[in-house]
Amino acid sequence: MTLQITNITKRYPNGVQALRDVTLTIPNGMYGLLGPNGAGKSTLMRTLATLQEPDMGSIYLDGIDVLNQKEEVRQTLGYLPQEFGIYPKARAEDLLDYFAVLKGITNRASRREVVEALLKQTNLWDVRRQKLGGFSGGMKQRFGVAVALLGNPKLMIVDEPTAGLDPAERVRFLNLLSELGENSVVILSTHIVEDVSELCTRMAIINKGQILQEAEPLKAVAGLQGRIWRRIVEKRVLPQLEQDHKVISTKLLSGRTVVHVYSEVDPGNGFEEVAPDLEDVYFTTMAGHIGNIKPEVAL
Ligand code: ADP
Repeated sequence: MTLQITNITKRYPNGVQALRDVTLTIPNGMYGLLGPNGAGKSTLMRTLATLQEPDMGSIYLDGIDVLNQKEEVRQTLGYLPQEFGIYPKARAEDLLDYFAVLKGITNRASRREVVEALLKQTNLWDVRRQKLGGFSGGMKQRFGVAVALLGNPKLMIVDEPTAGLDPAERVRFLNLLSELGENSVVILSTHIVEDVSELCTRMAIINKGQILQEAEPLKAVAGLQGRIWRRIVEKRVLPQLEQDHKVISTKLLSGRTVVHVYSEVDPGNGFEEVAPDLEDVYFTTMAGHIGNIKPEVAL
């Protein structure tokens, strides 16, 4: 199964150019779409989920023309939107059963089997008789996954799922997602770099509606070896450092500032080499030092 997205462009009626000529080839497995708020991730996710139209371009899921064969896509689509309503008074088991009917699983016995398996898979079996209104954020998200998994989707779209989860819920949720994806295309959109580094075998970085880089996380990190340098400084020296170096990120650590810069040679000036990570890939790409496209071109 491959999802082929070609030259997708979208401008909203208010003039915002949300997607610019987006082309991506997404194979089976967990694929991360990483970008800041407003980058265009949800617009792309909703377009893939057949909920809105692009102005231009094409999308194919193997032989299915996603933009023109919406019913076929919906039969094989699992979509967990950024925000979804639940019925607070419904019990988890009853509501999942109801969604299973909507998904076309009309046989009672097989529906009971499917619902039971999904509640167990999402670790909600023990709370299946509880009302959704009392669920924590993480439990609600896992219920959303159970709904999205009904009917064994070949294309699973998960839009910003970990925003708002506490650390323990987040780990549990990512573990659940990591079990998917062997035989289907799973796209995880997120602004959290760790979500991608922990889960995804391939990824794309998007900003201002444009794909800046498509890569395998491990290879992209390896590609930065020897190019990321760190110095811990007082905040007041930052403006000078920003003038003298390609500063890609600054982070507070116990009241001091950790500065990462990109440089192909030793920048001197008190900097030491550090092992790069995916966050360095992300910020280096966003700053335009690496990637397929320089972001300046997009402006
Ligand atoms: P992300 O999911 O990466 O945060 P979105 O796709 O939600 O990004 O938004 C991309 C851009 O499009 C943003 O500037 C946003 O304000 C704008 N946008 C999103 N939805 C609409 C809409 N329905 N009408 C007008 N502008 C929109």
